[in-house]
Amino acid sequence: MTATYTDTRLLIDNEWVDATGGKTLDVVNPATGKAIGKVAHASIADLDRALAAAQRGFETWRNTPANERAAVMRRAAGLIRERAPEIAKLLTQEQGKPLAEAKGETLAAADIIEWFADEGRRVYGRIVPSRNLAAQQLVLKEPLGPVAAFTPWNFPINQIVRKLGAALATGCSFLVKAPEETPASPAALLQAFVDAGIPPGTVGLVFGNPAEISNYLIAHPIIRKVTFTGSTPVGKQLAALAGSHMKRVTMELGGHAPVIVAEDADVALAVKAAGAAKFRNAGQVCISPTRFLVHNSLREEFARTLVKYTEGLKLGDGLAEGTTIGPLANARRLTAMAHVLEDARKKGATVAAGGERVGDTGNFFAPTVLTDVPLDADVFNNEPFGPIAAIRGFDKLEEAIAEANRLPFGLAGYAFTKSIKNAHLLSQKLELGMLWINQPATPSPEMPFGGVKDSGYGSEGGPEALEAYLNTKAVSILGV
Ligand code: NAD
Repeated sequence: MTATYTDTRLLIDNEWVDATGGKTLDVVNPATGKAIGKVAHASIADLDRALAAAQRGFETWRNTPANERAAVMRRAAGLIRERAPEIAKLLTQEQGKPLAEAKGETLAAADIIEWFADEGRRVYGRIVPSRNLAAQQLVLKEPLGPVAAFTPWNFPINQIVRKLGAALATGCSFLVKAPEETPASPAALLQAFVDAGIPPGTVGLVFGNPAEISNYLIAHPIIRKVTFTGSTPVGKQLAALAGSHMKRVTMELGGHAPVIVAEDADVALAVKAAGAAKFRNAGQVCISPTRFLVHNSLREEFARTLVKYTEGLKLGDGLAEGTTIGPLANARRLTAMAHVLEDARKKGATVAAGGERVGDTGNFFAPTVLTDVPLDADVFNNEPFGPIAAIRGFDKLEEAIAEANRLPFGLAGYAFTKSIKNAHLLSQKLELGMLWINQPATPSPEMPFGGVKDSGYGSEGGPEALEAYLNTKAVSILGV
């Protein structure tokens, strides 16, 4: 399949502009290793213009009635849906994922925006009976101001949309530093809002040096809220900076999802569901299953079936017909996979499938299954963020729960069991933000999405997601 790719500029005040000074970065297709386009690299002067626009955009948008905001958001969602085939091609070329996944991500974005548009119409305050009958007490919900968002390259559209949807629904303006490696699909996303008639300055898009931009935006008085998705070390730095400027924060950080396969599990279902979740987006997913904790009576059968599952995957260019797993999004991931495999081999794990880079063009890495993985192996402690499943056995469910809770991360988890008693025990004892039992991950905008412990705080789904962009004001009116 041939596809065109477009260069990306900065979006300021509903206009696409070059960076002052004209600086750009190359964008590389991870399936070919070739540069396919350029993205503008913002200077501080560009950030100042984007900030001023976000302030003006906020004044207009917060004074736009919620039903009118919802109408603009719904129009944007409709345009995204119409344009999904073209947007998906941009996304696959810059990020690598199979076209079907890219299209799924784009269509899901439209759905998420529509859900937030509707939810924004139901942001109510309260009237609280007063102790003084002459007074009326009101609780008002107000948009908290211009938002600075920082989003990563694994889901270039989806990672923006969960933040953007909640911010716009509540009346905030939204300035995002999207990933330099995957800039064109975020630009296509925001173009839909411009075309839908969003007032200038309400949304903005910049790229450049991530640390320079985050340091500048987070400290800037115009920005009232910081939202970040990415690694735990960077999240901690940004949260500390935001704390020193007393800014509201949502952090969606790394995970290390356990998959508990209990003695009474349906092995075929566990492999199908957890396998699909593991190898989607080549494992570059914060909720990707990583530590497969399998009851010893099922361990060999489970490993054999998972290896067979990987043999059914087709590794290739995401644009090619039939590809079910694409290349890793950047060369850093290839280096990281090589390190994880070297460490696992050295510590005595068995490589039951994959374990190597495939070819020498593009960032292709074979879907990998490791068995008999020792607890001190790197893969059992640090997020691999790639297509590696690591299996260990257990005898008692309590041991598996203890292992699941051992790490500082607490984002997603999976479990397979036919017993409601086990399901309740797991839902009570696992230290996680999200748990899927007998199924792959099924995130939806109406359900909370977020983690605990080192995986961050705040939620990007459900009513909690909107609350994160609202201030609460208590008003008491006496004698009128
Ligand atoms: P990284 O930690 O340098 O970057 C992660 C993301 O944060 C990128 O989008 C990057 O542009 C951004 N970033 C980095 N420093 C920043 C700063 N000072 N200010 C603002 N943004 C900043 O590493 P990477 O090589 O891009 O990814 C490696 C690791 O990041 C992965 O192993 C994974 O653990 C994590 N990650 C997590 C998610 C997620 O969905 N939670 C997504 C992408 C990456």
